[in-house]
Amino acid sequence: MKLATYQYDSAARIGAVQGDCIIDLAAASDRRLPSDMRSFLDLGAPALQIAQDIVAGSGDGLALADVRLLPPICNPSKVIAIGLNYMDHCREQGHEPPKTPMIFTKFTTAIIGPDDTISWNPSLTQEVDYEVELAVVMGCRARNVSAADALDFVAGYTVCNDVSARDLQFSDGQWVRGKSLDTFCPLGPWIVTRDEVPDPQTLPIRCTLNGQLVQDSTTAEMIFSVATLIEFSSRAFTLLPGDVIITGTPHGVGVFREPKLFLRDGDIVTVEVEGIGRLTNRCREECV
Ligand code: ZN
Repeated sequence: MKLATYQYDSAARIGAVQGDCIIDLAAASDRRLPSDMRSFLDLGAPALQIAQDIVAGSGDGLALADVRLLPPICNPSKVIAIGLNYMDHCREQGHEPPKTPMIFTKFTTAIIGPDDTISWNPSLTQEVDYEVELAVVMGCRARNVSAADALDFVAGYTVCNDVSARDLQFSDGQWVRGKSLDTFCPLGPWIVTRDEVPDPQTLPIRCTLNGQLVQDSTTAEMIFSVATLIEFSSRAFTLLPGDVIITGTPHGVGVFREPKLFLRDGDIVTVEVEGIGRLTNRCREECV
């Protein structure tokens, strides 16, 4: 099942995407289901079952083309990000693979959705880069979960562009400011539930910039698997339903190219994980 957050008639709702249509889950369930994704995920497996029954029993819905997709979740308690988690990305920068996952965060105020604009102030940063990533959305509260059980705690998967201001990231020494500028966390287009993704470590992953392929890899290149990242994180802190873990980017980012390649005003950047979806955003330098 594909779960989306969308806007229609100025109200935000959650829906199940079926082909070219989207079904309003709150309306179709006689309001037994809420209209925002975090509340829906908080209800756990019973809510997912209601949604699945609705999808199985109904062909009715709005045309997907007539609604505006919003970020599938806009208010997670946290976005956990992982640095240096692809072998090919370590090789391109001559970096030894890390011995343990390297965790940082992106503030949730950076989240935007499909077709929203990535924007920045050029007097603040001149080195804005793209990073395609598989994003994991948690479905259950998780604390001290083993890798063997970890995927049972996942609601599903979406796609993230971990947009990064490299000049701020590297001059600060730690990464949170350069990774958390407003609009620097495009997320979407929807959450594919985990029953449709039996193995998250076999997915082709790519990024195109103005139609040109700039990142092209597979999640098999991950150093620490999704399950290991959940085990590692949940030993340190509680993961809540709706929390997002973005799992690192493969090789091909702009900062390690020769010559370097950074995002510019008017650029169109698309990130895609096969089997999950494709997310496109336009770039804009703010007028100052
Ligand atoms: Zn990243």
